[in-house]
Order: sequence, then structure tokens, then C-alpha cells
Amino acid sequence: MRCPYCGSLDTQVKDSRPTDDSSAIRRRRICPDCGGRFTTFERVQLRELTVVKRSGRRVPFDRDKLQQSVEVALRKRPVDPDRVERMINGIVRQLESMGDGEVPSETVGELVMEGLKALDDVAYVRFASVYKNFREARDFEEILGKLAEEESDDSPRLKKRNPVQSD
Ligand SMILES: [Zn+2]
Repeated sequence: MRCPYCGSLDTQVKDSRPTDDSSAIRRRRICPDCGGRFTTFERVQLRELTVVKRSGRRVPFDRDKLQQSVEVALRKRPVDPDRVERMINGIVRQLESMGDGEVPSETVGELVMEGLKALDDVAYVRFASVYKNFREARDFEEILGKLAEEESDDSPRLKKRNPVQSD
């Protein structure tokens, strides 16, 4: 597994255990090159999903991309990663149970909003404010890009409410 920080391919598994609901195996990994730590999950994929964009273009559903957007919204929020994992599992299962495996990008966005609402108010507002501004004309993927942009700006208001913690 490639290190997300330095790109090294030589990362090591330090710990491996099932998630609380046993729906996945969670592996804690460390990169010997940069010391970076990260977590990976191994889980069942029931069926292939296709996201249908507003333009009508079809792209394969990308769970990692979904997870990234959720993590951006949850940045520095005190939410248990297992709850986040369960929420994303729930979203994916709902998508998998819809119709013929094709889901509108808008549906994905709506499910993420619902999930975040139950998880963390601040993350919900972060996601929803961007999503609702863009839903008329834009694609879910553009919203993810916009969220990431806002995160890198790191507005002073959010900084004050969520002081940086070193861990
Ligand atoms: Zn590294």
C-alpha cells in the first residue's frame, strides 16, 4: 500500500483487527520512510456501482473519493473513525440496493448530507453549505473539489473553534 504522505511503496502493517461491526478489517500502517501513519480497510463489495452525473456521463463509483470528502468535512472534529466507517458503509449499502446499480450523483450527495447530519453538526454544515450552493448547476465531484479548497484555506473561524491538535 502506497504511503499517502511520501508515496513510498514500502509501508508496514502494525495492527490488524475487525471493525466493531465486523464488516471490515482495519489495518494500521506505518511508513518506514517518513514515519507517516494511516489506516486501511478491507471490506466486501457487493456489486459494481455507477454514478450518473448531471451531464449524463457515467463513472464508476469511487468509495475512496466519497470517504475523502467525508473526511474533509470532518477534519479536526471529535468523531470516532469507526462511526465514520459505519456511516460510509451505510451509504454504500443504500446505493447498492438502489435500482440497477446506477445512481445519480445527486443521490450520493444527499446521502452524505444525511449521514453527516447524524454524525456531527459542524461537518454537516461544512458539507451542506458547499453542496447546496452548488447543487443547481454542478456535479458532486466539483463539490468535493470545492470542499477541499475551502479546507486548505482553513478559515480563522473554524481554526478558533477547532484548534489544531498534534497527535
Ligand atoms: Zn511515507
